[in-house]
Order: sequence, then structure tokens, then C-alpha cells
Amino acid sequence: MKDIYCPQPFVSVVINGLSGRVQPCCVMKGWPVSADEKLWKDLRTEFLTGEGNLKERFCQSCIEQEKHHQESPRKSYLEQYEQNPDMFTMEYNAPSNYCNLKCHMCSPWNSSTIASENLNITHLDPLSQEFSDKYGDKIFVRPEQELPDVRPITTLKLVGGETLAIKQNYDLMQKFIDSGLSENITLEITTNATLTPKFNDWDIFNYIAYFKDCKMVVSVEGWGEKNNYFRYPSKWEKIMENVKKFKECSTVVFASTVNCLNIGYLHDVKFGAENLNCSYTFGSLVWGPKELYTIEALPLDIREMYLDSFYSVGIDRDLVSYLEDIDYKPDLHKRMMADLIERDKYRGTCLLDMFPEWKPYYV
Ligand code: SF4
Repeated sequence: MKDIYCPQPFVSVVINGLSGRVQPCCVMKGWPVSADEKLWKDLRTEFLTGEGNLKERFCQSCIEQEKHHQESPRKSYLEQYEQNPDMFTMEYNAPSNYCNLKCHMCSPWNSSTIASENLNITHLDPLSQEFSDKYGDKIFVRPEQELPDVRPITTLKLVGGETLAIKQNYDLMQKFIDSGLSENITLEITTNATLTPKFNDWDIFNYIAYFKDCKMVVSVEGWGEKNNYFRYPSKWEKIMENVKKFKECSTVVFASTVNCLNIGYLHDVKFGAENLNCSYTFGSLVWGPKELYTIEALPLDIREMYLDSFYSVGIDRDLVSYLEDIDYKPDLHKRMMADLIERDKYRGTCLLDMFPEWKPYYV
């Protein structure tokens, strides 16, 4: 049963303030906003007995990842659970999509600047337009929404949007501090590390001091200038400056998605993180019918080039497997390129400045 068991529906709750969805795990796709206790119970039973088809409906990312990769979110959660069977995690995505960056593989749900950009570009792929057309506003926020109830959890995860730029995240940390629970809780913050603003007169470093410990998960998609392109318009020097400060009070993990634009350069993230004595993870594969920037959009000749470079730098086998095993979809490739070129025109950037291998397709 270890091959399919996942602890998430037993020990985790993920609260999405924007959609109103409460689900067992942030990796899941398609979990209904109106899910009732029975669906939670049925999923738990399925993980215990192996019988049922809910995993196929909601856990596609893990299923696909495990076909190619030794790591997956499920395996990572299982390992954490085995190390600490008492764990109970609350993950909070505040009711705001505010983010100062517009990463290619992100969506308007998680980035107000992507939402804003989409409103200003007329020829985007329908997938990119979906949210912006629906709400027609660059920052979608539900300020009236109440904060979640505090309870004796072991880990509080805060994600975004840009987590450190959203006031509700600070209000929730304050609520845990006021309740006296924070000193037993590990704080885990996912951030793009580009800013550390003050809310309620405190910046993040003031809040961290009241928690048991803290892990800063720094989202990057490449190292240096390449990250500035993928996670536009970030400034690498600023990220490094903040990482230095984070390291003084937390553990720092660099986390990258795996997508068609960055897969050939993830070894730079690995070596960069190691040089800073930090860990890294490439556990999040961009995947699913609503994504443009999947490995399926990566042409075969570019894959060959990346594979050659992987053999010389000794990158891990799992990334090789993505490049070798995931089918190429020419139609998706065309849609992804059209989306990227429109964004380049709007931003005044050019993919080829740093990734000349895409030249035959940049038309
Ligand atoms: S998506 Fe993966 S990690 Fe999440 S509940 Fe399903 S198997 Fe577990």
C-alpha cells in the first residue's frame, strides 16, 4: 500500500482564500469548492485500501511525476510523515492574488501582474485569458474574508501570490502568536524573495522570532539572469540579499518548477544552492490540461541538446527521464510560443537573449 498511500488527506488542510476551496493538498487539481466531508472520507479510504478512482481524478500531477521521477510531492509528504507522525499542517493561500512578478508558468489566480498583463495583450491563448476575462481586474482580493481558526498544528505554510506582500498572512501569523500556539509551530513561507515589507509595523523577521523555527522556500526558475527572465521582473541581486538575511533566522530551500523553459538549466539551480549551503527541490512538475509551459511543448531537438549538456554536468536521472519519456505535442508547442512571444513584445524582453536554442521556433 506504500506505493499509493499519501498522508495528505489525514494530516493536512489547504485553505484557498480566493476560491473558497478547502482541500487536502495544494498539488491536487480539480478538487470541488463544494467538497463535503464524504469526499474527504472516500479519498482517505482509497489511500488505505487502494480501491477507488479519486486519485485518477485529483492526483494527476503525482501520478505523472512518479512515472518519470523518483521524487513526487506524495513521496515527499510520506517521508515527512514518517519522520513526524504527529504532524498536522495548515496551508493558507490568502484571499488575494497580489504578486509583483509575472512568471511564465503562473496564472492570474496567483499573480495580479499576470492578470494585469493579460488584460493588456489582445492575442493571448484562451487559457491565459480565462481568469482575466472573468474578473476584468488586475488585483482580485477578498478583504472581507475571515482568517482561518487557529488550532494546535505543527506546521503553518503560507503561500501566494507573493506571500510576503499580502497583509492577511501577517494577520494570521499574529493570530497564532496571540493564541500562544506559535512557539510550537514550524513556519514555512514560500516567497520570491524580492521584498520584505512591513505590515503592522513589523517585517517578516519580527514574526519569525515567535515561531519554533522557520523554513523559507525561495521560488526560483533559474539562477541569476535566467531567473530574472522567467520570473519577470525580479532582480537577482535583491533575491540574494534577502536570502542572506533569511539564512540568519531560517533554513532556506530553493524550489523550482520543472517546465519546458527551465528544464535545461536546472543544474545551475542545483549548483547555486549547494554553493550557498542550501538545499533545493525540483518536485513540482508543470503538468495538466490547463498548462501551456509543460515539457510536452519542448521540441525534440532542444531536448537532445539539453540531454547532451546533462551528461556532461551529471544531472540527476529524473530530469533526463522527463526529456526522454514525455511525448512532444506540436500543437501545444505552437500555443506556448505564441503566448511567450506576445509577452516578450509587451515586456520588451527576448527569449533568445539567453536561450538562443529556441531561435528556429521564435517566429
Ligand atoms: S496530489 Fe499527490 S500529494 Fe496531493 S493528495 Fe494526491 S497523491 Fe497526495
